[in-house]
Amino acid sequence: MNARAPHETRRRLKGLGVSPGIGIGTIVHFSSRGPHAFRVRIEPHQVEEELHRLKKAFHTARQQLAQMKAKLEQALGREHAYILDAHLLMLEDQQLIQEITSIIRTHRVNAEWAIKVALDRIQAIYADIKDDYLRERGSDIEDVAHRLIMTLQGDHRHRRLLPGTILATEQMLPSMMVELDPNAVVGLVARTGGWTSHAAIIARGLGVPAVVGIEALHEEIEAGMPAIVDGHAGELILNPTEEVVAQYRERQAESERLWCAVRDRIRLPTVTRDGTPITLRANIELPSEVDTIGQYGAQGIGLFRTQYLFLSSPTAPPSEHIQFTTYRRLAEACGQDGVTIRTLDWAEPEPAVSDTEPETNPALGLRAIRYSLRVPELFRTQLRAILRAAFYGRISVVLPLVSSVTEIRRTRELLHAVARELREEGLPHRADIPVGVMIEVPAAVFIADALAAEADFFSLGTNDLIQYLLAVDRDNSRVAHLYRPLHPAVLRAVKETVVAAAAAHIPVEVCGEMAAEPLQALALIGLGVRRLSMAPKTIPLMKDVIRSVDLALLENTVDRALKLVTAEEVEYLLREQWADVLSERRLKNHMKTDRRQMEERI
Ligand code: PEP
Ligand code: MG
Repeated sequence: MNARAPHETRRRLKGLGVSPGIGIGTIVHFSSRGPHAFRVRIEPHQVEEELHRLKKAFHTARQQLAQMKAKLEQALGREHAYILDAHLLMLEDQQLIQEITSIIRTHRVNAEWAIKVALDRIQAIYADIKDDYLRERGSDIEDVAHRLIMTLQGDHRHRRLLPGTILATEQMLPSMMVELDPNAVVGLVARTGGWTSHAAIIARGLGVPAVVGIEALHEEIEAGMPAIVDGHAGELILNPTEEVVAQYRERQAESERLWCAVRDRIRLPTVTRDGTPITLRANIELPSEVDTIGQYGAQGIGLFRTQYLFLSSPTAPPSEHIQFTTYRRLAEACGQDGVTIRTLDWAEPEPAVSDTEPETNPALGLRAIRYSLRVPELFRTQLRAILRAAFYGRISVVLPLVSSVTEIRRTRELLHAVARELREEGLPHRADIPVGVMIEVPAAVFIADALAAEADFFSLGTNDLIQYLLAVDRDNSRVAHLYRPLHPAVLRAVKETVVAAAAAHIPVEVCGEMAAEPLQALALIGLGVRRLSMAPKTIPLMKDVIRSVDLALLENTVDRALKLVTAEEVEYLLREQWADVLSERRLKNHMKTDRRQMEERI
């Protein structure tokens, strides 16, 4: 057996940076499957109490397993119950109990954390065992440890994260992002994921550096390990030396200085150097974000992803009242600039309000507007809340994943019915709010003229549009190198949409992540887009970029790009033509990390 000594290693793991910035802290392993064990420091006088909790947890776990074993024996016979004997034996293992006890005493941490540290150590040993059968026993230990942690968490006392936490997980899930405390978490790392996965979008919104697609993550990390997340370079540095930490601290300070310089200019108008105004709005996921959008110079909210309101309500969908007060709060905060509320867009495998079997192909399944129209009670509640809130401010509604005109018509019918109800009930509301459609599937691009005839505006959802146009899963790190926003098919689709909108005299806004990345955003402007919506934190720098460029140059370059046939050619041309605007050091420090990081790895 060849156990590693991970604390002695210094490792740099490569991945894809999906949220820029640098986080320096300590690894907390956040299992998306098992329970989450967080580290909590305890005072010396609390040690005995903690040991008592541990003892109780062992006792309860033994009782549970004994009961399970009895049941199993009854159902399947004695020979199948031996697995639980092994689990019971682990709970009697004095060496294990001593190890956990000593971690609690010496490190003064909570019992959950001590179990996690012991588990990680034991698992590292098991991982190195050559014999398949014996190695698999590592999962039994994990099972027992999870049981103990869950037993301990029955009282929900230790959910708090310590400041300086770097969360390491298999996959960053949106539900996990909703739960986490951005003040405590300084970095996120995951084995899988992509630039436009929702969790990455939230990480950028919260300003938490994140790196995904780190293949060797689980083999290399241990709970409690010191680490640095470099969201620019797409790297996780484990056990950094003091010199390395000092270098990264200096880079953090440099970013802060540059950020302050950019922030000073946020009150300047957003116009190109030759005078074309561009509107920059905010994408938000959590209602509380509305309080900060003003400080970044956002002109209202271009996209409120309401599914997070539903995700943070674990048992039932949020009531009409909760939705109404949330939407009203947003509308009042945005004033004349207004807010665009997107109706429920489920895209995740475990929606809080659905108890149906998981779909084989959720990206093509019953989601977004399809789901809303299938569950009209839920949709009506949301539409009622939106119309009521619209009485207090400027609200538009936008429908996700529209692929046919019928979907707008059915929504308008529901809106009429809901407005009639509200009138009869005497509740203040506004019936005639603008209704837009998200252009995010190829079908919508092909029928953009027909959709434009029935919609009040278009919102280009490039995240999904790229996924469906190129048939590349936006969450899959294995094909992240094929997810090319500047692919000729994407440019042509955007152009078609802009032309159809112009012909119908309706506005078009881009709220996908292309709007937040300077090279791509300039391409969008060159294609005729005048409204961009993005994570609020990216607005000040985008404004700087736009103010330093001539529209004529953008249009000229994009006209040439539209004649090219590969994404590489387009990227090369734009980088070369706009090098002056984009090469500045500030961009490297603040904006999206280079997508080529991923390509270089492949
Ligand atoms: C998009 O698809 O571009 C979009 C803005 O929606 P989401 O990222 O929420 O799917
Ligand atoms: Mg979308």
